[in-house]
Amino acid sequence: MTEQYNYLVIGGGSGGIASARRAAEYGAKVAVFEAGAIGGTCVNVGCVPKKVMWNAAHLAEQLKHVEGYGFEKVSTGFDWPTLKHKRDAYIERLNGIYHRNLGNSGVTEIAAHAHFIDNNTIEANGKQYTAPHILIASGGRPRYPDIEGAELGITSDGFFELEHQPQKVAVVGAGYIATELAGVLQSLGSDVSLILRKESALRSFDHDIVALVMESINESGIEVIANTEITKVERVDNQLHLTTNNNQVLANYDCIIWAIGREPASDQIHIDQTDLKIDRRGFITTDKFQNTNVNGVYAVGDVSGRIELTPVAIAAGRRLSDRLFDDQAGAHLNYDNIASVIFSHPPIGTVGLSEHQAREKYGDDLKIYSSRFVNMYYAVLEEKPATLCKLICTGPDERIVGLHIAGDAADEIIQGFAVAVKMGATKTDFDNTVAIHPTAGEELVTLR
Ligand code: FAD
Ligand code: NDP
Repeated sequence: MTEQYNYLVIGGGSGGIASARRAAEYGAKVAVFEAGAIGGTCVNVGCVPKKVMWNAAHLAEQLKHVEGYGFEKVSTGFDWPTLKHKRDAYIERLNGIYHRNLGNSGVTEIAAHAHFIDNNTIEANGKQYTAPHILIASGGRPRYPDIEGAELGITSDGFFELEHQPQKVAVVGAGYIATELAGVLQSLGSDVSLILRKESALRSFDHDIVALVMESINESGIEVIANTEITKVERVDNQLHLTTNNNQVLANYDCIIWAIGREPASDQIHIDQTDLKIDRRGFITTDKFQNTNVNGVYAVGDVSGRIELTPVAIAAGRRLSDRLFDDQAGAHLNYDNIASVIFSHPPIGTVGLSEHQAREKYGDDLKIYSSRFVNMYYAVLEEKPATLCKLICTGPDERIVGLHIAGDAADEIIQGFAVAVKMGATKTDFDNTVAIHPTAGEELVTLR
């Protein structure tokens, strides 16, 4: 017999859970299918364990500064298994909270892999389920390169399984994950090579901001190997050797991490049993209301190929339920001016357009303000790393269309400024805001 619901959700990750709980709050009868660990990528193999590792790396950096601040030298010995154990325990607690929250919201959780039988019917664990509304929130997974020996490397998923700290690591890739993991490993004491197929990492972000972070990556001791593609991986005597497109061999790594992007998890839900359209990379095509081409089927989050961030999946999922189950006809997520942070060393906070994107959109109608300075934290230290902040403005009223900061605390500074940018703030609004002294954030309201 087919079980009937108001709303079926494939995937108990950021987007699926948020949408399911919001729908249940409006009184809908909702079921979520989750084949893996509840909470999805962010909780289990993404934002959360990554941030724990980044915090540890940050602490390792600060421990180097204690003497400069007059403290006695402290031991900087780091025990990876201790942190891994504590991190895993924290995630287990979060999994419990997610299960309880779903139960408290009245959502039925079905711990099984789900797939379509037709446009309106899902099968899981040999049972059939139907609903007038079905959400696909199946997320994505890390991509492996299509080269000989690729399976000898791991991805970010494998990074979080490492029981011991790798000594010599090659991180291959140039995006968020490559930059973040390379920085974390180097700060914690591994010997890291960052292998880029082009000249720089983070090429889609503002070039001045990235230049500063690349300076810092180089100074940190990470070996940046640019303009290099890996064509083969071999294991010899328990060491990994990488052959490059320049016929070089990069030898003796004990760990290789592929961080070359993610692919949508749309291939195991039997799309072929439906009329759903996917694009050539497998992302499920949606309109601004998250509608797919099939009436009553929706997609949010990483599987929909928009901005791949947890709060984006959550916001899109919640607005969808507001529209479907609370008569909020126009509810949808506006994907403009979504802020994000790259937890590099130093971190980058960014919202809106980079300078090159702004030039493409507004031509010469731009006014750029920037400031490069040393955060006062370093006043009494030998090290003098730079912070860079940058405002990109357009029009006679100098509306801010891009705001970027790379430096200590950028990760925390950006959220408040993102509100201002989203509201359409102008340079004059910033000038009219009295600074908070002494902070790094004040530079953004005192730019000349
Ligand atoms: P997911 O969270 O991936 O959830 C999808 C769920 O669906 C999974 O649990 C999966 O098991 C389940 N599933 C798939 N197919 C089926 C099926 N057929 N049946 C049943 N269940 C199924 N974002 C940030 O905002 N900040 C960060 O700092 C950040 N750091 C990250 C670090 C890393 C290493 C990674 C990999 C990602 C990071 N992200 C970060 C991105 C963020 O994790 C994702 O954008 C977010 O998790 C996407 O949510 P989602 O709901 O679309 O998918
Ligand atoms: P990204 O898409 O950010 O970056 C992957 C990059 O790797 C590409 O842009 C490309 O850069 C490079 N690349 C692609 N193929 C190859 C290849 N074959 N060999 C070498 N390099 C290659 O992917 P990530 O995996 O880093 O992250 C996925 C998404 O997850 C992010 O886009 C982000 O949305 C999210 N995320 C968010 C985080 C946060 O909010 N802090 C943290 C982690 C992930 P190029 O063209 O320059 O070579």
